[in-house]
Amino acid sequence: MSFGVWAKRGGHPFPFQRCARSLICRLDSCGSFALPYDHTPLPSPPLKTLGITGGIGSGKSTIAALLGKKPGVRVVSADDEAKRLMVEDEGLRRQLIERFGADTFLEDGSLNRAGLAASVFDDPKEVEALNAIVHPAVREALGKSILQAKEDGIDLFAYEAALIYEIGAQDLVEAILLVDAPLELRISRVMQRDGSKRLEVMARMSNQLSSEDLRARADFVIDNDGDLAALQESVDSLYRSILDK
Ligand code: ATP
Repeated sequence: MSFGVWAKRGGHPFPFQRCARSLICRLDSCGSFALPYDHTPLPSPPLKTLGITGGIGSGKSTIAALLGKKPGVRVVSADDEAKRLMVEDEGLRRQLIERFGADTFLEDGSLNRAGLAASVFDDPKEVEALNAIVHPAVREALGKSILQAKEDGIDLFAYEAALIYEIGAQDLVEAILLVDAPLELRISRVMQRDGSKRLEVMARMSNQLSSEDLRARADFVIDNDGDLAALQESVDSLYRSILDK
């Protein structure tokens, strides 16, 4: 049974006082309004920014895809951004090669995923070193994407990231949406999606923040424990509530 969108803090999801946390609102004069008979054209509505996070198999990508079909919404995935940066960002590539060796990349310039995974496998210090290189680059790219969305007149910019807090992305968006679902349901969805084994899924889960921690930090929660039609309803309701539509 889905409970739809649950706004933890109540009231309007993006009240003005939360603008202080928003990169965009800090750059704009947030909260100004036109006086009566002032013929200055009203500014276009400010960009709203939302982080979407959740544990493995919770349904982040599914929600991001549904939200991305709505008018005025742009969705960016942290995973896709990291993959793009590994190809395009020379500074990032240099740092990775310095730390993990020349075979971090294959001859055609693409990332040697298997090689890099083997280098960091089961070694928390190496994982930390990799994250210390990649996460700041991903965070910087997020800042640029938000500014670009603002320039492009987007209404809602949504950023999907499993590791939203680890990247530090929560400081760049106004609100965080947590997608959650019961553990067993998440495990069976991922097993079905990836053909992976139960223990593999559980091992990946053990590296993520718990549902309790994530719920405590989120501004909104979607309990994705129903079917896709229920999820669509939750997304519709979230969209309406964020954009006052
Ligand atoms: P990951 O962290 O592994 O990237 P995710 O949180 O992005 O996972 P999704 O890939 O969106 O999760 O969803 C996991 C699987 O469950 C997918 O195959 C998706 O189609 C399916 N799924 C998600 N939500 C529902 C739902 N409400 N009903 C049926 N299937 C769903």
